[in-house]
Amino acid sequence: MELQDILYSQGFGARRVCLGLVQNGLVTVAGQPCDDPYADFDPEGLQFTVEGKAWSYHAKAYLMLHKPAGYECSQKPGAWPSIYTLLPAPLRQRPNKGSTPGVQAIGRLDQDTTGLLLLSDDGAFIHRMSSPRHHVPKVYEIGTADPVDARQVARLLEGVVLDDDPKPVRAAACEATGTHALRLTLTEGKYHQVKRMLAAVGNRVVGLHRSRIGSLQLPDDLPPGQWRWLTPETLAAAT
Ligand code: URA
Repeated sequence: MELQDILYSQGFGARRVCLGLVQNGLVTVAGQPCDDPYADFDPEGLQFTVEGKAWSYHAKAYLMLHKPAGYECSQKPGAWPSIYTLLPAPLRQRPNKGSTPGVQAIGRLDQDTTGLLLLSDDGAFIHRMSSPRHHVPKVYEIGTADPVDARQVARLLEGVVLDDDPKPVRAAACEATGTHALRLTLTEGKYHQVKRMLAAVGNRVVGLHRSRIGSLQLPDDLPPGQWRWLTPETLAAAT
C-alpha cells in the first residue's frame, strides 16, 4: 500500500494533505524518514510517525475509552464537551465509505456516568454489539442516595416496570457492595436504565460507573479520559 494511502486510511486528512505530509518530510516509517508518498509498505502492524507523533496502522479501529464524568457521548453535544474530543484527530477523521467519518461509540453513557466505553469504525461490529439480541452483559457499580436493602436487590432481580414499556426489565445479577452501593449486571440498554430501575425500587443513583462489558474489564491502569487500542480478536473473545 502506498504511504500516502496508508496515511489517508488512518485519518490524517484529505489525500492532498497526506501527500504534503510525506513530501514535506514529516513522516517516518519504522524509524526511518520517508519522503516518497508512493513508497510501498505492507500496512499490517506498520509503525510510523507523523509530525513526530507515533501511530500504528489499523485496518479497522477498535478501542476502549475510560469515559470521565462531564462528557456527552454525542458527536453534537449540548451542554457538555463530547467524548470524541478526548480522541486524537486521526481517530475522528478516519474515512468510512458511505458513513460518518471516524470511530463511533457503541452505546451511550450519560454525561455523569464514568467507565468503560467501546468505540469502532467497523459498522458490522457496531451493529452486532448494539443489537439487543446480542445480550452482552454490562456491569455497573452504583452509589445510592439511600441505604440498599435486601428487598430492593430482590426486586431488581425479579424485574421492575419502567414508564415506557409494560414488559418488566430485570437485572441479570445484583448484589449490595456496601451500605449505599450496588453492583448490577444488565443485558439490555434502555435509556437511563440503571437510574430508572433504581428509582422504581425507591432509591436514587448518585454515582454510576461501568466496570465491565462482557468479560472485558476496565483496566486499573487506564485513567479517566484515556483510551487504548483493542484487537478484534480480544473483543470477539470478550463479548
Ligand atoms: N444506565 C443509566 O441510567 N445511565 C447510564 O449511563 C448507563 C446505564
